[in-house]
Amino acid sequence: MILIKNGCAHDQASAEHPFLETFLASNDASSVRLSPEVDLHKLAPHLARLNTIEIEFSGFADGRGFSIARQLRSQFQYKGELIASGPLIPDQYSFALQCGFDAVKIDPLTFEQQSESEWRAALDDFQLSYQKGYGAVNGPAQNIFAARAAKRAIALPDKYKGLSAEAALERALQVDFKGEIALASSMGIDSAVLLHMISRIDKNTPILFLETGKHFSETLVYRDWLVKTLGLTNFQNVTLDVTELAQTDPDGALNQTDKDACCDLRKVRPLEAHIHKYKARITGRKRYQTPDRANIEILETDKGQTKLNPLAYWRAKDVTGYMHKHGLPPHPLLAFGFKSVGCEPCTTKVGEGEDPRAGRWRSSDKTECGIHFIDGKWVQTNQPPSIFGDYI
Ligand code: SF4
Repeated sequence: MILIKNGCAHDQASAEHPFLETFLASNDASSVRLSPEVDLHKLAPHLARLNTIEIEFSGFADGRGFSIARQLRSQFQYKGELIASGPLIPDQYSFALQCGFDAVKIDPLTFEQQSESEWRAALDDFQLSYQKGYGAVNGPAQNIFAARAAKRAIALPDKYKGLSAEAALERALQVDFKGEIALASSMGIDSAVLLHMISRIDKNTPILFLETGKHFSETLVYRDWLVKTLGLTNFQNVTLDVTELAQTDPDGALNQTDKDACCDLRKVRPLEAHIHKYKARITGRKRYQTPDRANIEILETDKGQTKLNPLAYWRAKDVTGYMHKHGLPPHPLLAFGFKSVGCEPCTTKVGEGEDPRAGRWRSSDKTECGIHFIDGKWVQTNQPPSIFGDYI
């Protein structure tokens, strides 16, 4: 026989439990098998010595066994094991649990027409709210309910611990933040990694690109190539407010006099206006990049918006290894000595031995564009340089 317990099938030469008459004639039997016609009052005086009760179902349309189980649990306060025995189907599993059963026993021929995953899926469908009709205390089946409730109660960030980058993305895009998560990509040196992973999970994921009006033409070509080649169907160019641009930077030279104001106008505020439409955002941040990123987790919740950092535990060689493995070309300017690429007026090549971001805002104290979300706000920061990328 096959015993379905906790959503898993156990192939076992299951013990034959005596029928009621045999049980009553015995003084030491601790299990019994009941037919659907049983009169429970005959059994009631002997319940204390029973560990297991098996209740027969004559067919999957015969619901009498469910009523017997409910009676045993709620009226007679039976706390031992309850097994439903007969040609039940996976769709009835949740209901059997609600009625107080711990397990379902079916013959191997019936089980051959089903699959273990169907029984597991039926258990997954089970909703705690369905328990209203099962008021018995301490029935063994309640252990299942308690375990499942505890599983649901695990904090969301903990569910991401130890996941690979791909698994974390898959979980976020398809389960936890389905339709409510976006990636802001700079289309920089290593942006292809996350874009490639996302394209393999959900090509319709929103990809936001800040069109600052100051990009290298190579970045725009690379952007278009990545979007087309990876088949990304929800790419969004985040453009500037033309009225504000005309007022604040009419000749386009603000970057020469006030870089923070320029970044605020062309990057920080436009992205802020768009990213808050989403419950969560994906970042390319990695622990190795900077001291302030050394403790980031794969999933972080920060006052209303969640950040998914799938590459948090990646090293530089993991990035290059992934790009090589999947034949992803790097940003075209890498070959010309640019190891981090931002806006053209603020990016120069870096020399041998220089920090990869040394070419960003060279000859100025500025090291970041200011797109960082801290304590619930987008704020200007002046953080140490990172190895790759800017705001991804
Ligand atoms: S990187 Fe330079 S050009 Fe681009 S927004 Fe910032 S200051 Fe302006």
